[in-house]
Amino acid sequence: MSEKNSEVRDEGAPSNFIRNIVIDDIDSNKWGGKVHTRFPPEPNGYLHIGHAKSICLNYGLADEFGGKFNLRFDDTNPTKEEEEYVNSIIKDIHWLGVDWEDRLFFASDYFERLYLWAIQLIEQGDAYVDDLSSEEIRDYRGTLTSPGKNSPFRDRPIEVNLDLFNRMKEGEFPDGTRVLRAKIDMSSPNINMRDPVLYRILHATHHRTGDEWCIYPMYDWAHGQSDSIEGITHSICTLEFEDHRPLYDWFLDRLDVAHHPQQIEFAKLALTYTMMSKRRLIRLVDEGYVDGWDDPRMATISGMRRRGYTPAAIWDFCNRIGVAKANSIVEYGMLEFSVREDLNAHAPRAMAVLNPLKVVIENYPNDQVEMFDVPNYPQDRSNNETRKVPFSREIYIEREDFMEDPPEGFFRLAPGREVRLLKAYYISCTNVIKNEQGQVIELRCSYDPDSRGGRSPDRRKVKGTLHWVSAQHAVPAEVRLYELLFTKENPLEVDPGDDFTSNINPNSKQILTHSLVEPGLLEARPGDTFQFMRLGYFCVDMDSTADSLVFNRTVSLRDTWKKSK
Ligand code: ATP
Ligand code: MG
Repeated sequence: MSEKNSEVRDEGAPSNFIRNIVIDDIDSNKWGGKVHTRFPPEPNGYLHIGHAKSICLNYGLADEFGGKFNLRFDDTNPTKEEEEYVNSIIKDIHWLGVDWEDRLFFASDYFERLYLWAIQLIEQGDAYVDDLSSEEIRDYRGTLTSPGKNSPFRDRPIEVNLDLFNRMKEGEFPDGTRVLRAKIDMSSPNINMRDPVLYRILHATHHRTGDEWCIYPMYDWAHGQSDSIEGITHSICTLEFEDHRPLYDWFLDRLDVAHHPQQIEFAKLALTYTMMSKRRLIRLVDEGYVDGWDDPRMATISGMRRRGYTPAAIWDFCNRIGVAKANSIVEYGMLEFSVREDLNAHAPRAMAVLNPLKVVIENYPNDQVEMFDVPNYPQDRSNNETRKVPFSREIYIEREDFMEDPPEGFFRLAPGREVRLLKAYYISCTNVIKNEQGQVIELRCSYDPDSRGGRSPDRRKVKGTLHWVSAQHAVPAEVRLYELLFTKENPLEVDPGDDFTSNINPNSKQILTHSLVEPGLLEARPGDTFQFMRLGYFCVDMDSTADSLVFNRTVSLRDTWKKSK
């Protein structure tokens, strides 16, 4: 296995009802004091932030109580699963700092075992081959308020079932012509117990087993037994599987397995302005609404990584939101809060000007260059690292930081007004130069040599402090500004006839191609994060090269989320 990305999370997980169950089980020696969890993704898409919640919960418990954690791909559906997804999932989980050691498994590793178990059920009279079509099976199943009815094939003799199932496996029948079903109870109030399908015929190539099989187990038939085979103690899953638990228990009881895991359900993570279903995320990618699974606007782990979110921030977020038994929706701002907290502590500061406006400081010596010490971190931090930033006669400031005719409350630069340049000097605007269209293209200023380092020479107060870059030293950069991908809190809320794509935010990506950054950033590598002073947190995109730097805005500085404890 590749190396684990450790030290991304704080010690001391917050308590929750599942953790309490685990503690009780350890105390009562239920599983011989052991804790063994797993994360069971289906490799049919990239992981999203909801999966991160499940990973943090499962791995967090195993790690905290000295237990074990498995990664198991539930790869029972050859038509939707791909190697690309397996690889991306492995990469993402490692990135989160999670280690499964040598316990990487695939449900397809158990196809033979599951097949033999199916034969056992047939021999016990607990399963039968059904010739009904899938539509007929649906009709016969009944509804929530009406019982189902028995298939005419339900009472086939055991030998006939064994023969037909064997011939299904040998490839004698086309797709969809027969299935193997458990024989449970067509009038059960729980629809999952109405003779669920265990195997279907699919002449499809599997990403691991190739063409070895043409019958494939259903997820429900594979999942519980896979947990049993692996010795999972606490089989943690999301609420929609609560009604499947009696079925998993029925299978394990009928098979009389040695190890019967305990299933515990919790509520899925839902986030405002966010979509998590893989089925829909695939549409965003395939139909070109985003630039791939790792588009920084995607709620995928790979998208968040590219955006500059950190593993520590994701762990912090997962710990903050907790684990509950009831569904609720979390504010997106809460995730941004965790990202800001982590980046504030760990992202070095840098000066960058997104929309440059030239400033000539007329009384500053023509060829002079001064190097100013600029702290890399907030000064209350134990880390006193600084960097040198060059200053010269011609600089750029942010276009937004100047107004020719400023309204009340605008404290930045304006004609005749004095402001502080961060860590440099006080400057006053003496002249405004415009082009033929009347647009401001340059400012003329004077500086006060006594204000070196940005300090007030005579306790003279200025209200505005601006960031800047030196014109001759600045490095051009492309900056990609991202906003929420959807305009609605619930992206699935649409007018009749529309689908969720009608709620895509047309302004979710804006590319600035004329930005300028301080020269120190030439050393930055893809993935590095910075606080661009006064602007927000940014990271180097993987498209970035030494010749053409590209930054993504990770999150703005503004704290929209109020710490609510
Ligand atoms: P989706 O519906 O988004 O496609 P899924 O549940 O089909 O997700 P799986 O690969 O089957 O995706 O999920 C792997 C594990 O992650 C499961 O245990 C599942 O319960 C859990 N999981 C999926 N979505 C969430 C979520 N939003 N919050 C918490 N856990 C989740
Ligand atoms: Mg699933």
